[in-house]
Amino acid sequence: MKRIIAAALFIVILSALVSCAPDAPPVHVHSFGEWTVAKEASCLEEGLRERVCSCGEKESETLPAPGHSVKDGVCVRCGKKASKGLKLTPGEYYDCCTVTGIGPCRDTDVIIPDTFFSKPVTGIAEYAFKESAGLTSVSIPDSVKAIGQFAFSDCTGIKTIRLPGNSFEVGTCAFSNCTGIERLNVPAGMIAVGEGVFSGCTGLTSVSIPKEIDGSGMFSGCTNLRSVTFPSGARAIQNGMFSLCDSLTDVTVPDGTEEIGDSAFVRCKALARVSIPDSVTAIGKNAFMECPALESIVIPDSVTSIGQSAFEGCTELKTAKLSDKATDIGARTFMKCSSLEEVTIGKSVTRIGARAFSVCKALKSVTVPDAVEAIGNDAFFNCGALENVTLGSGLKIIKSRAFYLCGNLKTVRFKGTPEEWEKIEIEDFNGPLKNAQIIFEGE
Ligand SMILES: [Zn+2]
Ligand SMILES: [Zn+2]
Repeated sequence: MKRIIAAALFIVILSALVSCAPDAPPVHVHSFGEWTVAKEASCLEEGLRERVCSCGEKESETLPAPGHSVKDGVCVRCGKKASKGLKLTPGEYYDCCTVTGIGPCRDTDVIIPDTFFSKPVTGIAEYAFKESAGLTSVSIPDSVKAIGQFAFSDCTGIKTIRLPGNSFEVGTCAFSNCTGIERLNVPAGMIAVGEGVFSGCTGLTSVSIPKEIDGSGMFSGCTNLRSVTFPSGARAIQNGMFSLCDSLTDVTVPDGTEEIGDSAFVRCKALARVSIPDSVTAIGKNAFMECPALESIVIPDSVTSIGQSAFEGCTELKTAKLSDKATDIGARTFMKCSSLEEVTIGKSVTRIGARAFSVCKALKSVTVPDAVEAIGNDAFFNCGALENVTLGSGLKIIKSRAFYLCGNLKTVRFKGTPEEWEKIEIEDFNGPLKNAQIIFEGE
């Protein structure tokens, strides 16, 4: 009977092995050719481009309508004339003009003139068109060098927007809550001097960024944003750039990026996959805080600094692998990651910050490497599932409540000797640690 069971088991194992054998035909990976324009975009109508794989599969992509390109008062593409009746105010020396409001103009397709009485139109004043809900498109000529704060904010009807082709500055929330814009190619000449330039543009689904652009919170609260084309060679993802972008599911930080800014992806509800290249050296504070769809994260060894609360409240995060170069785990880094089962702490870490892993209720075991000298206040506070802890021989201080409310802590493996253990300063409210069985693994 035993032999029969053994034989049956052998067949089961064998068939399992066979089904895993790599002789299945290779999966076809599409290799698309060059894009060809199927429908040219006109000033106010979107175009379409396509590319085809050798297998016949076709992929298409919408080309945003470019808006009107005005030269000497006329669109060079369609011939339409610039809007009349806009409120224009001469500059201090009467050598230029600024658009300060819509005035008696009734156009819904607003074309800002490039000149007014032969003076160049160089600016759009702050609040100039704020809450002009009737506008459906706005075209800004290359003569404009500055767009003031809130200039077009809450223009919810705007679908097409043409920004200057030359370098221009744009102020805080200049296009915030323009909920009708779906696709945006950020022009290379844009210099954000304020925050949240396109924040709250809830209709925006895709954005292409040609180069690194300053200004924090640029796309904050763009809750439909799914596709982001990052520039290559940008140094940083700015602070708060994609905070509260609820539809962002995948982020591949481009190679070459050195810094992920503070709050860059905070509260991105759907963000499930993040790939961080080994050019990144710093992850800012709150960078991925409260991203409840994120299940795993690998922080490459290039990263030397991780800001506080970087992954706090990522409630589905199950595994985290930390950099071997980072010397510090900041305060609250993984606090309230209630599904975190497995964490690999890098071997260069010398300090585990306050509350770094507190309320990680699924964490069963943790290894604190030898380089760690200090475990901060409440570091593993309320980690109710924690059963096994391995502590490195370099440990000097375990601060108060570091292992408080860790009711299941049974075994502590210490990489040093009993004499070395006695020298560690263990502060108050670390009862679970003191009651656990200590296994000495030192010489
Ligand atoms: Zn194909
Ligand atoms: Zn035109």
